[in-house]
Order: sequence, then C-alpha cells, then structure tokens
Amino acid sequence: MEDVVALYARFQQCRAVSTDSRQDQTDTLFVALNGPSFRGRDFAASALAQGARYAVVDDEALAATAPARYTYAPDPLRALQQLAHYHRRQLSIPVLGITGSNGKTTTKELVYAVLSRRYAVQYTRGNLNNHIGVPLTLLSIRPGEHELAIVEMGANHQGEIELLSRLAEPTHGLITNIGKAHLEGFGGVEGIAKGKSELLRFLAATGGTAFVNTLDARLPALSAGVAQRISYPGPTDTYPAKLLAAAPHVVFRLFDGTVVEAHITGDYNFPNLAAAAAVGAHFGVPSADIAAALADYAPTNNRSQLVRTDRNEVILDAYNANPSSMAVAVTSFAARPATTGKVVILGDMFELGAESAAEHQALGELLATQQFDTVLLCGSDMRHAAVQSGFHHFATKAEAAEWLAAHPLTHQQILIKGSRGMGLETLLPLV
Ligand code: ATP
Ligand code: MG
Repeated sequence: MEDVVALYARFQQCRAVSTDSRQDQTDTLFVALNGPSFRGRDFAASALAQGARYAVVDDEALAATAPARYTYAPDPLRALQQLAHYHRRQLSIPVLGITGSNGKTTTKELVYAVLSRRYAVQYTRGNLNNHIGVPLTLLSIRPGEHELAIVEMGANHQGEIELLSRLAEPTHGLITNIGKAHLEGFGGVEGIAKGKSELLRFLAATGGTAFVNTLDARLPALSAGVAQRISYPGPTDTYPAKLLAAAPHVVFRLFDGTVVEAHITGDYNFPNLAAAAAVGAHFGVPSADIAAALADYAPTNNRSQLVRTDRNEVILDAYNANPSSMAVAVTSFAARPATTGKVVILGDMFELGAESAAEHQALGELLATQQFDTVLLCGSDMRHAAVQSGFHHFATKAEAAEWLAAHPLTHQQILIKGSRGMGLETLLPLV
C-alpha cells in the first residue's frame, strides 16, 4: 500500500499514463509493461527522454540509476492495476461497467452519447476493455471534472470480469447479452453466462444497480441477486421500448412515446439503443435529449455501418464476428426490404476451438435457408459453411478479392462480416 501511495503521488503530477513509448510522452507516467516479445524496461529511458516525468520499471538496477525518475515495481502490470484501483477509490462518482458477448462497444458509445448531453462523462476509448485498458480508462478519470464514468469490460476467460470489477468497482452494471463469443476460452455458453455474471455478483455484493435486458433469455434470472434492477425494453419493464423498423435504420419508440430514428442498422442494435435510453432515463436525462443523442449517433467504426459506394449499398460489419453476431447479422440482413439483389461476403469466425467446424457448418445451413443472390465465403474455416454448390468459397481473402475484381457487383445490398483478424473491410474498395 505504501508503494501505491508513493506511486500515486507521482501519478498526480502527470498529465496521463502511457504504456506505449511511441505515443506522446509529454508529462506522462510511463508504465513499462512487458509484451510477448518485448521488455517494457527497454523503452523506459527513451520515454523519459521524450518527456515522461516518471517510469515504472521491473529492473531494480535501472531504477537505482535515477530514483527521482524511476519507480521499481517487480510486476508493472500489477502496479498499473493497483494504481488504477487506488485512483478509483478516491472518486465518488457513479461508474457504469458494461460487459456482454456482443455489442459492448456499440452500447458504450450510445450510452456515452446520451449521458454526455447532461454530464461530464469519461469513457473507454475505442475497445480498450481488458486488464490493461480498464486500468488506463480508470486513470483517465479526472476528479472534480468527470461526473460519471463508463467502463467497457471484455473477457475471453473466467475470472477476467471479476478482476475488472474489483478494479473498477462499478456502482452500476449492464450486460448487453449472453451469446457465443470467445467460446474457446469460456468453454461453452454456460461458461460464458458464468463469466459475464461476475459483474452481477459484484453488484449483488456491493448493493449496486443492474440494467437488465429482458430480451435475453438468461439475463433476468442471472440478475435476480442484485437488489436494484432497472429492466428494459419489454412492455412491463422499467423502461419499455418498441422496435418499429430495423432497416434501413432502426426506428423505435421510447417509454414515453417519443420516436427515435437512429442511424444505426439491424434489429440486433435495438437492445443496444434501448439500453442507452434506459441508462439515460435512470440518470435523469430528459427523453428529448435521449432521442436526439441516439438519432445523432452514426457508427464510423466498421460496426453495423451503412456505406453507399458508387455501385452498391454495403453493411460494413467487419469489426468482428462470432456465431451469435453472425447469425443475427445474416437474419437481419435477409429481412431487409429487397429492392435490389443481396450479396453476403463472410469471413472466418475465430476463437471457436473444438466447435469451429460445427459452428461454421451451422452458419452455412442458416445461409442455405435465406434468399441471397450471391454468397462469398472467405477463409479456411469457412469451407465448412460451403454447404451448397452455389456458395463460393475462397481459402484466402486475396482469392475473394480476385473474384470481386473479375465479377464487379452493381445495384446490390452487400453484407460484409468476419472476425477481426480477417480484416474484411479491405474488400470495401472492390464493391
Ligand atoms: P468486442 O468483444 O470486440 O469488444 P463488442 O462486444 O464491443 O465486441 P461491438 O464492437 O459493439 O461489440 O459490436 C461488434 C459486432 O457485434 C457488431 O458489428 C454487430 O455485428 C454485433 N452486435 C452488436 N450488438 C449486438 C447484439 N445486441 N446482439 C448480437 N450481435 C450484436
Ligand atoms: Mg468492444
């Protein structure tokens, strides 16, 4: 604890915390984290030379060379987490933790859009949602300035959300849904439910408040132990909402009758929007402001993004994919009014472990039940989805790109989706 207090005193003199010596180091506390193929300490001197005030290193001898600039910590990651937790404990603001299988970042951005109409809000930037990103988010909260914080919490194995909850001490929590994401690390959907519930267990133990998505079959029961529950979007819930249209963009009615015309597509985004409305209403944001904030939000991050190219209309959903998000993206795309032909360009879903072949095959069978004009499947695992002779399978993205160059698509609606590692957004210029 003494060590944390001393480190905290140094942190308070700094503008920000940095873990990457390639970023602007001016007035930072540089924490020299180790990576799979590098030692953070090798970059500490350069960070200090570039303007960092202090550096936390796991090299006692190096630290002894300039104790006024270096703090020795045997485990810099643990020091970062302890520092973040210590900082969190100095704050007396509501902290909303957001986890779930799909839609965390989208929901976080929507909640931010709503809450920032009324409050000074700090929130997770990008997708910095893990054991490093969460501490960095916490340390970016400025006392006296921020009135609320939103922390995205990601996990691919048991115990991770418990750790992040202990660090962030959320007063409020929201699980977007429980689905098949990171199946490999969690060991099945029941394992995923257990992993995500770590947030609910924290809230139950600390008298926190849970926002409960009643459209998800598991969440109401999983949340039962939390004393304060705010539910959405069912008709008898705390904050009801009603989906009116899913394409080209989601249109829905708020609890007080206000109609929101969002700029985000797909019925699967309705619970994300309704979650943001429920959080906003709970924190007293007037419904006119909630509606305006949700209507103004347009994704620019490869998530459910509607892009009009010269020749086609594209739903660019290439940020990531797993069996649950793939299934809702495909069925939601199939349900769009068919004024033009429809093409799906889908890439491998990663991190499925032993379930991979079966999950890709199940996707192929789902595709076979839909009316798509062209089905392009890209990546080695996708061969299991090529269950129909009419489906085109390409072992690599380069081969898919060649096909697209040779067969230009025009006047089509096109869905592009695959795991992050597939990077399917690079196909966009070809359609
Ligand atoms: P990550 O685990 O990478 O942090 P995430 O949970 O933050 O992902 P987003 O980045 O918001 O999720 O969305 C990724 C994709 O998940 C979207 O592009 C969309 O296809 C899908 N998705 C979003 N919301 C939902 C939902 N409520 N149900 C199912 N799929 C969804
Ligand atoms: Mg995310």
